[in-house]
Amino acid sequence: MKQITRRKFVKNITSKTVLGAGLLTLPSCSKQSSNQAFPNIQTNKSYKWKMITTWPPHFPIMGEGAEKLAEWIEEMSGGQLQIHVYGGGELVPALEAFDAVSQGVAEMGHGASYYWAGKAAATQFFASVPFGMNAQQMNAWLYSGGGLELWQEVYSAFNLVPFPIGNSGVQMGGWFNKEINSIDDIRGLKMRIPGLGGKVIGQAGGSAILSAGGEIFTNLERGVIDATEWVGPYHDFLMGFHKIAKYYYFPGWHEPGTVLEMFINKNAYNSLPDHLKSIIKTAAYRSNIWTVSEFESKNSDYLQKLIQNPKIELRRFPDDVLKKLKQISNDVINEIISSDSSSKKVYQSFEKFKLKVSTWSVYSERAYYKALTS
Ligand code: CA
Repeated sequence: MKQITRRKFVKNITSKTVLGAGLLTLPSCSKQSSNQAFPNIQTNKSYKWKMITTWPPHFPIMGEGAEKLAEWIEEMSGGQLQIHVYGGGELVPALEAFDAVSQGVAEMGHGASYYWAGKAAATQFFASVPFGMNAQQMNAWLYSGGGLELWQEVYSAFNLVPFPIGNSGVQMGGWFNKEINSIDDIRGLKMRIPGLGGKVIGQAGGSAILSAGGEIFTNLERGVIDATEWVGPYHDFLMGFHKIAKYYYFPGWHEPGTVLEMFINKNAYNSLPDHLKSIIKTAAYRSNIWTVSEFESKNSDYLQKLIQNPKIELRRFPDDVLKKLKQISNDVINEIISSDSSSKKVYQSFEKFKLKVSTWSVYSERAYYKALTS
């Protein structure tokens, strides 16, 4: 990375070329020259696209976010690019969205990249991994730390172009009808927890049970499972888990900040004129900040409702349980990267950034939160 000296930094921030009108003047030839590279692109052509999502129709925040993205793109393009949003299962089954967009059945998809771990193991590092980075840190890695370029490289092999469009923030640990006082209490625990978190629970002696969203409540109520994770206070409240589980554990070590994604068929994306590509990129940034803000606001509202309920006990996982889960998570991730060079490349970048940003957080976020709550 190019080092910037203090002198140069001070010179730059006082320079008229940065603060003055010079920065706002766009070079007039840029659009023309890029269009010459794609002579077949018609800048006035109208587009009617389909977006398939992995969420139930109008699903709070995630599904709403997909609808807003489509709305914003249409609005910014003055109706030139219209997008019809389909809920999971409306056009293709939710978990076939990746293949469908890759093959051009629809131009756009909306989901979370760890759903596609079966296609390429490296995809999961762009969503969330146990003891990974939080929302702010993931955005920093993706936008400013080379993460998005790696993501584009991984998806390019599937004829897709990915965009981060949101983040769940730190999730909750889940709803338990059994107390977790030591790592031994995970032994024999039947928990609904997908992905890498599930593998970690499995290696700790529990069983990770997969069940569809609609069946989790009944399974927990009937004791088919002892515990389930879902998202955070807002989505968990809507699922009604507080009516049938006693302990609400935190933090969500398995999903510390899950990135939500939009992906576009590469041919469809490349066929767009530059200004529509730019509108899509801008809408993706807008969606990211909207989604992060909605999660933060709604989760804090609904946490209040849960705290006020005397039947619910909020509990922090004991330190030694978290420590052990972290060790197992490292083993699970090391196993993945040892057998897949693409995962290794992505994880090396991820881990290097995590270590760097975690050191900074000791002096920034962590120190501030400590000061705020002491
Ligand atoms: Ca979750």
